[in-house]
Amino acid sequence: QKAEWEKLKLAKTVTADGKHFELAANIGTPKDLTGVNNNGAEAVGLYRTEFLYMDSPDFPTEDDQYNAYKAVLEGMDGKPVVVRTMDIGGDKELPYLKLPHEMNPFLGYRALRISLSSLGDDMFRTQLRALLRASVHGNLRIMFPMVATLKEFRAAKALYNEEKQKLVDEGVAVADDIQVGIMIEIPAAAVLADKFAKEVDFFSIGTNDLIQYTMAADRMNEQVSYLYQPYNPSILRLIKHVVDSAHAEGKWAGMCGEMAGDQTAVPLLMGIGLDEFSMSATSILKTRSLMKKLDTTKMQELANRALNDCDTMEEVVALVQEYAE
Ligand code: PEP
Ligand code: MG
Repeated sequence: QKAEWEKLKLAKTVTADGKHFELAANIGTPKDLTGVNNNGAEAVGLYRTEFLYMDSPDFPTEDDQYNAYKAVLEGMDGKPVVVRTMDIGGDKELPYLKLPHEMNPFLGYRALRISLSSLGDDMFRTQLRALLRASVHGNLRIMFPMVATLKEFRAAKALYNEEKQKLVDEGVAVADDIQVGIMIEIPAAAVLADKFAKEVDFFSIGTNDLIQYTMAADRMNEQVSYLYQPYNPSILRLIKHVVDSAHAEGKWAGMCGEMAGDQTAVPLLMGIGLDEFSMSATSILKTRSLMKKLDTTKMQELANRALNDCDTMEEVVALVQEYAE
């Protein structure tokens, strides 16, 4: 198995019937790139930039951020890098940013909601400028977290366009092919994906949050973990709607939640037609090895049965096991 994986490091991810899927890695800091490259990732599908803020005693400066983004873009040598703008709040606190105490932080003031408020405006613009300046060093894609409404996406995109125009006016070089997309991790955005798909460049499905919000089950709470069900047909149908909506507008759809590297979910997601799978680097080679053995037409049949015939998560799991045998 070691020898097979060694060979797979340099290979693209191709199924038994010759279809390509992109296997990407999730990272938290530029230091993670060693693992990313040692495991043959084809891209960085999620760079969680909040660690830049959490590991710093005060707001990271524009130059601090520029250097981190540049290091990741250069380290990936032209391969795509999806950078997520700050996802602060919820469970991720900053000692130097005074956020109000909340009863339900996961349903509260977090991520893009902070970026679009007066408290976060300066932080957000600084981050966008750092990203835009770094864009000339590789293949940058920018992604906004926790988008619930189109109005939020439009507001974030407008700030992005403003900062971009300012830099261009100052004579700063900025790449002209930066894709700007969103995470789909709030059910409202998943349901309305057909509308979002007309305006965004891509989707990345954040199943860690999407599952907790759809099932109304805290992703950290053991008492309700039995309800945290990636294979529930309701979740699969939401994912399918997101993927189909992206494709209808000629856009791509990826996934950067834990589910993307889950060996039971992967055959279903292939069948649904997900384009990019972003996971912890250590899951990439085993997933590439699994995909090599699978036929997409059969996986489409599997996914259709899971979506249409199964009532429960247990039935979906049994169905996948049946196909595995
Ligand atoms: C997710 O919600 O699936 C996700 C990838 O983001 P995070 O785990 O950082 O909330
Ligand atoms: Mg999330």
